[in-house]
Amino acid sequence: MSNRKSKHNHPFWEKYLSSKYVGFDLDHTISKYHKLNLLTVVTTCIAKYLVNEQGYPKEVLGITFDPKIVVKGNIVDLEKGNILKLDSEKKISKALHGDTFLHETEIGKEYGENMILDDLQGFSNKKYLVVGTYFEICRGFFFNRLVLMRENGGLDPNKANQDFMLDLVSSVAYNFGNYDQGEFYPSVSQDLPGIFDDNSKDLKQLFQFLKKDGKKIFLLTNSLYGYVNLTLDYLLGSNWQEYFDLILYSARKPVFFQSNSQIPFIDEKKQKECSPKFHYPLKNGNVKDLMKFLNLEQNNEIIYFGDHPIGDIREAKNNFNWTTVSIVEELDQLNNEQSDNYSESIEKRKQFWGDYFYCNKKPSYWGAILNQFSDYQTASLSHFLIDLKEFQKFGALEN
Ligand SMILES: [Mg+2]
Repeated sequence: MSNRKSKHNHPFWEKYLSSKYVGFDLDHTISKYHKLNLLTVVTTCIAKYLVNEQGYPKEVLGITFDPKIVVKGNIVDLEKGNILKLDSEKKISKALHGDTFLHETEIGKEYGENMILDDLQGFSNKKYLVVGTYFEICRGFFFNRLVLMRENGGLDPNKANQDFMLDLVSSVAYNFGNYDQGEFYPSVSQDLPGIFDDNSKDLKQLFQFLKKDGKKIFLLTNSLYGYVNLTLDYLLGSNWQEYFDLILYSARKPVFFQSNSQIPFIDEKKQKECSPKFHYPLKNGNVKDLMKFLNLEQNNEIIYFGDHPIGDIREAKNNFNWTTVSIVEELDQLNNEQSDNYSESIEKRKQFWGDYFYCNKKPSYWGAILNQFSDYQTASLSHFLIDLKEFQKFGALEN
């Protein structure tokens, strides 16, 4: 079934009509990437960090990214060194170690007969990496390769699996945690057309349509301001701030959405805490102060678009009952409509891991979270724009 099928009578549109604010995540929601290029840049940054800063052997630089090893929705077991796929009951359906899938009896031996990960809460911690973004795909991929490399005698045998992940977390902090450091941001800024899949025409039209419908638009992203500016200057132009009534960055989702978080909003220019305000970039913050500022209680006057099923969607829905729209690009891959070189490997990934949304005729762990916490699912903002136009043409008349 095509996700482009008319959806103008979907219950979501009633919520759309009553909403005042429409918010967006940045990475993979507003911005789309040429994924293989992005993943290649990220893995190169990680490899260089491991060799230059952590003393790993030069062979690590020769690791080339393989898109089938780790896919979104995988759980990386940091103790046992396995990459897992789970069903909606958290039962392991597949476990990859190095290049080899474990037999069911081996999975049973390692995880107990019921093969259920009872202690998984959906967040990454010392025991599990939950793969929800392309950055996490890279970390999971390197973890898998380093475990294999050690087992083949190419790395220090005393290095534990979790030590690899600690080094990978440091590489992320080094390359992505400070805009003036590392190689990631300079690499992206030198090749913007090679990294970003330019959807600027649709973005501008979508924002115009929303404004025409009386919506206030906001940005809520974990990205650093420097990266927000780099991305949106490229996609929307140097006046990009004018598209947004509120600009919230370095937001630390999912913590941002936790009702007990009291992390204040920061005026980074003045280096001090501040109250939320319109038309001014704000760092950090928390959902409770935001709702108070917008004069909204727990209700559905706010719609949020994000691609991370947990950090964006589950937490926004669970804690403050925001209306949620999941950007699920795999919906488009079902229709084979994407044509970049990462998507061309979709069949390989599917042969390796099975269907993204299903697992042994049950929803996959990831698919179940998407279904439970999304009010609406769409493959991209460009697809949503088509649905919105259709709603405005047909649905609004019926309401
Ligand atoms: Mg995102």
